[in-house]
Amino acid sequence: MNLQGYKKAVEKLNFYSYHYYVLDEPLTTDEEYDKLYHEIVAFEQANKEHILKDSPTQRIGDTVREGFSKAPHLSRMWSLEDIFESQGLEKWLAKTYKLNKNISFYCEPKFDGASLNLIYENGELFQGITRGDGTIGELITQNVKTIRSIALSIAHKQRIEIRGEVVIFKEEFEKINEARLQAGEAVFANPRNAAAGSLRQLDSSVTASRNLVFLPYGVGENTLEHKLLSQKMEYIYSLGFRRPPYSSTCQGFDEIETIYEQMKKERDSYPMMLDGMVIKVDEIASQIDMGYTVKNPRWAVAYKFPAVEKITTLKEIVLQVGRSGVVTPVAIVEPTDIDGVIVERATLHNFDEIERKDIRIGDKVIILRSGDVIPKIVKVLTHERDASQIPFEKPKFCPVCKSELLDEGALLKCQNLACEARVVNSIIYFASKHCLDIDGLGEKIVEALYNAGLVKSVIDLFSLTLEQLLALEGFKEKKSQNLLNSIEKAKGCAYRRFINALGIEHIGEVASKTLSDTFGSGFINASKESLMACEGIGEEMAESILEFVRVNRDIILNLQSIIKPLEPLQKEQARENPFKDKTVILTGTMSESRGAIKEMLESLGAKVAGSVSKKSDYLIYGEDAGSKYDKAVSLGVACLTEEEMKKMIDASV
Ligand code: NAD
Repeated sequence: MNLQGYKKAVEKLNFYSYHYYVLDEPLTTDEEYDKLYHEIVAFEQANKEHILKDSPTQRIGDTVREGFSKAPHLSRMWSLEDIFESQGLEKWLAKTYKLNKNISFYCEPKFDGASLNLIYENGELFQGITRGDGTIGELITQNVKTIRSIALSIAHKQRIEIRGEVVIFKEEFEKINEARLQAGEAVFANPRNAAAGSLRQLDSSVTASRNLVFLPYGVGENTLEHKLLSQKMEYIYSLGFRRPPYSSTCQGFDEIETIYEQMKKERDSYPMMLDGMVIKVDEIASQIDMGYTVKNPRWAVAYKFPAVEKITTLKEIVLQVGRSGVVTPVAIVEPTDIDGVIVERATLHNFDEIERKDIRIGDKVIILRSGDVIPKIVKVLTHERDASQIPFEKPKFCPVCKSELLDEGALLKCQNLACEARVVNSIIYFASKHCLDIDGLGEKIVEALYNAGLVKSVIDLFSLTLEQLLALEGFKEKKSQNLLNSIEKAKGCAYRRFINALGIEHIGEVASKTLSDTFGSGFINASKESLMACEGIGEEMAESILEFVRVNRDIILNLQSIIKPLEPLQKEQARENPFKDKTVILTGTMSESRGAIKEMLESLGAKVAGSVSKKSDYLIYGEDAGSKYDKAVSLGVACLTEEEMKKMIDASV
């Protein structure tokens, strides 16, 4: 990079920063930003005399947004230097040990949200201020007061600044975006953006509706006398703040690497997005000794995880027809490696979203893949367009059966009940994991059975014969027999699975369980009033059930007589045992699937919940148990191995 290139790069990064920090509308991925940032750092190290005052290496964040009043922090807020891979850690440790040999470290997740400074005076929340440029931020006290994990008063009476990250949990993020899609609004690009945007609302009621969560990670001005950061943080949690899902003190390269690898492996199971791990020197005296660069503490560093957002090119938009006839657009992108997985397809949500984002074939796009969430196109890089991009035209006909589509605005629907895609997908759904769980009956086999004319509806599955299967290409004796066995095994399934497998519109797993628990096989005779009296079932769902039963009563009864699903065991009927009426959480890898263990426990009258709380009675853990186990221990919830659980059940017979 020459001087002119350097100046251009600074200008470009400042442009990106403005969109990222001030408008909450990033124009590129963090990965691209960081790449250019490090090129700038390299140039500046070799050309100290040319460092520009407004270089992103010389400033924290950006200027504050119009519309908010500004407020100063009592002590400065900082950014973090970032490092990548083991070599980065090695170099950073060498540099840090040079400053001070006798140090230990405190590691915790790097939360991907927006930083916030809370000032408490006389035990009362006085001000909430965004990081801004590190010295002055936006005063957002009213908004901050709507966040339930922020205490309005604390037992600590001296003036103190408590710093932390405001995040939106992944589940909440999906819910907000779902609601925005329904309301015809643009979706948020990612949870960080949603958190930052929600925090900086001029209307506090919007902030209040977003379920933001505050996770403290440090203190600014304070009179605490603890010698270690880890002790200070324990004190902060004891004042009523939320503990991070993981934190640990440690020493040296190997221990840090082990914690990092573990956290990286488990990042998807955390409820919030993490973009790395923060390593901090634990001894406060050493922190003071080491001090700060213009931008970062020398005693802390962000050890980044592989990026979950990448830039790629949209090659094509294909159309999928689901079992209810809804046509969904799917993006086919230039294959790209995201955190070790090659991504080739991504969701585009619906046709409105394509129009709103003005997505064109050939566009450069940002794609997000995190955990088992379906990859999404979160941003179109319109500023990178040349003239070659082609606008996408909303289809008029079903891509599979060619019948005319019903245009419901955001949604397009194929109305042909006999459309091959609808039939095939409803059979695939029927056999899927949360329905009848028919092992071996995946997409390809269903298509083969359909194309051979053997299965035209789910009921035909149960009259398949070995001879018929053997006549199909690629079906040998063993494969055919296995398939017939799995179909046979699906008989006698739990009633809730049977209801779920019917694929009633708006009725998912949870509602199926409610229907099963409340009515059992009587659900087909339930009145609208009795359906709506069930928790979680509203008018639209009740009407959908009634309509489905009206049209399909004979099919349901016929299927029921073949499958013979088990009527749900009423709670009172469950025999006495240590788990009856108890709330149980499962975590880690067990000898059989967690779903099977959940079903077994539910049949004993237990309630199996997804997350640990003070009200949980037992946590049952398998191998590689992670943050849920730590949380259960810290809350004093009884933890049992799978074997211990089995022994307790056996002893109660
Ligand atoms: P940063 O977000 O990488 O790290 C510092 C921040 O981390 C702190 O201010 C704090 O808010 C947060 N944090 C989370 N958990 C923490 C913990 N446990 N302890 C301490 N701090 C914790 O730094 P930054 O200065 O806010 O932003 C720089 C980064 O932002 C860049 O590396 C880049 O990835 C991204 N960025 C992207 C764009 C873009 O256009 N995509 C533009 C500007 C910046």
